[in-house]
Amino acid sequence: MNKKIHFFQSINFKIALVFILLLMVTLEIIGAYFVKQLEQQNIQTFKQQVQTPAYVNNQLADDLLKTDATSANKEIGNVLADLNNSADIRVVDSKGIIRGTSDVNDQGEVGQKTPDSDVKNVLYNNRSYETLSYDKKNQASYYVTIVPLINPSGDSNSVVGAIYVRANMESVYKGINSITIIFLTASLVAALFSSVIAIVISRAITRPIDEMKKQAIRMARGDYSGQVRIYGQDELGQLAVAVNNLSVRVEEAQEASEAERRRLDSVLSHMTDGVISTDRRGNVIIINEAAADFLDVDDSAVIGQSILQILKIGNDHTIRDLLENQTELMLDFSSHEHDLILHAEFSLIQRETGFISGIVCVLHDVTEQQKDERERRQFVSNVSHELRTPLTSMRSYLEALTDGAWKDPKVAPDFLHVTQEETDRMIRMINDLLSLSRMDSGTVKMDMELVNLNELFNYVLNRFDMMIKADTSAADNNRTEARNLPANKKYSIKREFTKRDLWVEIDTDKFMQVIDNIMNNAIKYSPDGGVVTCRLLETNNHVILSISDQGLGIPKKDLPHVFDRFYRVDKARSRAQGGTGLGLAISKEVVEALNGRIWVDSEEGKGSTFYISLSYQPYDEEEDDLWDEN
Ligand code: ADP
Repeated sequence: MNKKIHFFQSINFKIALVFILLLMVTLEIIGAYFVKQLEQQNIQTFKQQVQTPAYVNNQLADDLLKTDATSANKEIGNVLADLNNSADIRVVDSKGIIRGTSDVNDQGEVGQKTPDSDVKNVLYNNRSYETLSYDKKNQASYYVTIVPLINPSGDSNSVVGAIYVRANMESVYKGINSITIIFLTASLVAALFSSVIAIVISRAITRPIDEMKKQAIRMARGDYSGQVRIYGQDELGQLAVAVNNLSVRVEEAQEASEAERRRLDSVLSHMTDGVISTDRRGNVIIINEAAADFLDVDDSAVIGQSILQILKIGNDHTIRDLLENQTELMLDFSSHEHDLILHAEFSLIQRETGFISGIVCVLHDVTEQQKDERERRQFVSNVSHELRTPLTSMRSYLEALTDGAWKDPKVAPDFLHVTQEETDRMIRMINDLLSLSRMDSGTVKMDMELVNLNELFNYVLNRFDMMIKADTSAADNNRTEARNLPANKKYSIKREFTKRDLWVEIDTDKFMQVIDNIMNNAIKYSPDGGVVTCRLLETNNHVILSISDQGLGIPKKDLPHVFDRFYRVDKARSRAQGGTGLGLAISKEVVEALNGRIWVDSEEGKGSTFYISLSYQPYDEEEDDLWDEN
C-alpha cells in the first residue's frame, strides 16, 4: 500500500515544473517581443544615421547643376568627406555617371558610368529606393538606400542625380545579438533560481500533505497514536485538523466495534447452545465452541465448509431449501458412546434492503427432553400393561367363579385367594407408583433425624429373623407388610458390622423401606437356604451398607437397568413372586433424596451385592466427652 512515489511523479515536482514552465513561457514571450522591438528601433536609428540630411542633398544637387564638372566633383568630394558617415556613399548625376564617392581608395570610379540598375531606376522614376541585402562574400547584411536629388530651385520632377548609400549593418545585429545573449543568460539564471524557489515553496505545500498521507497509512495499519502537525491556519491546516479528528473518531469507532466483537465472541463462546453462521452460499464463517463440540469438529477447520456438510444434511436439503422454507430440523448425532439429539433452528441474516447475506443456525441439545419424553411414553405404556395383566387374570378367575366354580369347594377358595393376591399386588403397585410420583413432583418431605445406623439396620434385620421363625411356626401377619415373601423360604442372615456407632442423618421410615426392599429381593431371588450377608462399614466421610446374597445374580447387560421403573430381568418370575418392578426404583429415589448413592455388583449364578453409601461426619470423641460432661 505504501508504494514509494518517484520524485518525478510527486506533486512537489509537478508544482515546481508548472512554476518553471510558466516562468519560461513568460520570459520567452517578453524576450521575443523585447528583442523584436529593439531590433526595429535599432534599424530605424541606423537608417536615420546613414541617410544624408536634406541640406546635404540640396547642396549636392546644387553642385551637380554646376557646369564646371571638375570643380563640381571636387566640391562633391568635399561635401562627402565632411559628412563623417561610415557608410559607403556615391553621388550619381542624371546621366548615371558617378560624380563622387566617400570611399577614399576608390576615387577612380569618379567619372565612370554606374552599372547599378537600381540607381538607373531611381533616376528614371524619381522615386527613393531602399533595401536590406545579405552579401554572401562578406557575410554581412547591408542597408542600401538610393535617393533622387531634386533641383532645389526647379520643380519637383527635375532630377539632377541620385545619392547612393550602402551601409554595413553588422554592428546593429551584433548589438542585438549580444542583448539577446544577455537576455537568455539572465532568463536561464532566473529559471535556475526560480526552480530552487519553486521546489522550496512546493515542499512547503506538500510537506503537510505528505504527513497526512503517512498518518492515513498508519491509520489503515491500525495505529492511531500519531498526530499530524498543523503548519498554519490555511486550508491544509484545516485539513490536518480534520485528519486528526478523523483519526480519533476512527479509533473510537474501532474500539467500540472491537469491544462489541469481543462481547459477541464471549457471548457465543459461553453459550450452551451451538451457533453457526454462514455466508450467502452457506459456507461457515463463525462457529462457536458449543457447536463444534456437538458436531465433534475442529472449529477452525470447518470455516469455509458448507453447513450442509457439517450438519450432515446434504442428502436431504439444499441451501436454497434452508433459505426458503426450512426453519427447524431435528438432527440425530447419536454415536455408540452417547446419545445426541439436536434441534436446529435456522434464520436468515437479512439487510434492510432485503438482501440475504447468510444463515444463522442455532443448535440446541434436546437429548434429555427427547429421552424424558420417550421414558414418559414408555412409563405410561408400562403402567397400563402392568395393571392390565393382573386385571385380566382376575377377570378370568371371576368368570370361572360366576360360571359355577363358586359352588366347587375344592377350587373356589384357591380362585378367591388368587384374586385376592392380584388385588394386593395391584394395591402395592399403585402405592409404589404414588410414592414415586410424589418423589418426582418433589412433594415428599424428608423427616431427617440423626440415627444410629447400626441399631436401625439391626432392627430391620431382626424383623427378617423373626419372619423365619414366624414362618416355621406358620403364623404370619408381617408378610404382606414386608412385601410378599415366598412362603417357607429358608435363609439365614449374617451380620458384619463395624464396632463403632455410625450416626447419620436420615428419614428413618423411608430408609427402612429401602433396606426392606433390598432384603426382600435378596431373599426372593435366592435359592432356599441361602445366606444373606449384611455389612456396615465406614470410610473417611461415608458409611457403606451392603447386602449380598447367593442367588441368581443379574446378567451384566441388565445391571445398568435394575433401578429403572418396571425393569425386571425375568418378568414372569418377578410377577410370580408378587414383584412390581418398582421397588429398586423407589429405593434409588429415596437414597438420592438423602444425598446418598446406591449401586449393585453382581455375577450371574453366584449372587448380587447391593451397596448404599451415605455421607457421614465422624463424631469427635472429645466432642462426645464434652456432651457427656454437660
Ligand atoms: P421386583 O418387584 O420385580 O423385585 P425391583 O425393582 O425390586 O422389582 O427389582 C427389579 C429387578 O431387579 C427384579 O425384577 C430382578 O430381576 C432384579 N433383582 C433385584 N434384586 C435382585 C437380586 N438380589 N438378585 C437378582 N436379581 C435381582
